[in-house]
Parts: sequence; structure tokens; C-alpha cells
Amino acid sequence: MNEYLVLVVEDDKPIRNLITTTLKMNDYRYITAGKGNEAIMLSASHKPDIIILDLGLPDIDGVDVIEHIRTWSDVPIIIVSARSEDQDKITALDKGADDYLTKPFSVEELLARLRVIQRRLMKTENIPVTEFVNERLRIDYISGCVYLNENELHLTPIEYKLLCLLARNAGKVLTHKYIIQNVWGSASENSEASLRVFMATLRKKLDDNPQVLIQTHIGIGYRMMKL
Ligand code: CA
Repeated sequence: MNEYLVLVVEDDKPIRNLITTTLKMNDYRYITAGKGNEAIMLSASHKPDIIILDLGLPDIDGVDVIEHIRTWSDVPIIIVSARSEDQDKITALDKGADDYLTKPFSVEELLARLRVIQRRLMKTENIPVTEFVNERLRIDYISGCVYLNENELHLTPIEYKLLCLLARNAGKVLTHKYIIQNVWGSASENSEASLRVFMATLRKKLDDNPQVLIQTHIGIGYRMMKL
């Protein structure tokens, strides 16, 4: 039996059944909720390890559910949304959701997202905070040095900040807005364009071509993969 307990929040029965059948076949434990308030109660009482959350719910909005849960818990949340809810998806990521699936999605896609989160849950338990290692990449937080295959990289302060932010949130999709606020402190008109430029030079230094380490989510943001 899988040790992870998944809370599935979805009011659409066929989709909920698809998700729970997939979880069952892959030995996950799960509980379900069809409403947002029920989801909040269940996450408090059962403390799930992962939450799969539909954004369009009959009582309260999925974004409100995230906001509520984030006041006491960092549990990974995967949003499930329809294509028409793209703006909501970005808001949900800004409120602290970790990842998203757009309907219709395949069960393979769902399982892949769960594996990303599980790897993160496993690794955060024994990561020493003074160092970040992701395959060829190593960040020594104490000296502020970054190494690729143990060769030191020369990053500008902004590039270093950007890399550390992505590393700290590895496995998680970060929106443009979130990155800009955390790296530059505030957003200006051209900040998305400058983010793209900094990301391009950072990728070049990281030799990240094709984009294996840092994924682009067009119109949404970026994610550092756990390799
Ligand atoms: Ca729905």
C-alpha cells in the first residue's frame, strides 16, 4: 500500500471516479469531497499528504479553499481546472497551489504530477538547508556559490536570486508575478520581458538546452524540475 493519503476535491462525478480509480489502481489511499467547505474540513481532520482540487466547486471557489488551507498547512495542492479557468489557475498558483492539470487530462499525466510531488515530499525531509543539489547543479548557500558539474558558475546577483527561488520551490510551478515579486520586490511594466531575458541568460549558464532543468509554462511561469 502506498503511504500517501490523497484528498480528491471534485464535484463532477465522472472525473472524480476517474481520479479515484487511478489512485486505487496505483495503491494510493484517498478520501473525497464534492464541495469546498467539506474539503477544508477534511484537510483539517485527516491531514492528507496531497490534495487534488477542482477550481469550480458548487459552494465556494477552489481559490478560497487554497487560501483557507494555506493559513495552517503547506500540503501540496494540484489544481484541476477547465481551459476557461486559465486566469483562476494563475490566481490559484499565486495563492500557493503547487501544480495544475487542465481538463481533459490523461491518467498518466495525473500520475506523473503525483510522482513529482512525492519526490519533493521525500527529499524535503533530509535536505540540509545549507546546500541544494539537483543532479549536475549545486548551490552552496553559505558561500553563495553555484556549481555545474562542480565547476563554479559566475552569476549576477539577480540570476542568483532567481535560481535560489526556483531551487527552493523545485517541483512547483511559479507564476511570473510570484517570481517578479520575490526577485525584484515589485512589478513594473516591463518586468515580464526582463524576467524572460534573465531566464534566458541563466539557462545559458546552466547549459539548460533543451529545457530539462527549468521548464517554461507559456503564459503562466516556470518550474525547476527535480532531476
Ligand atoms: Ca467542477
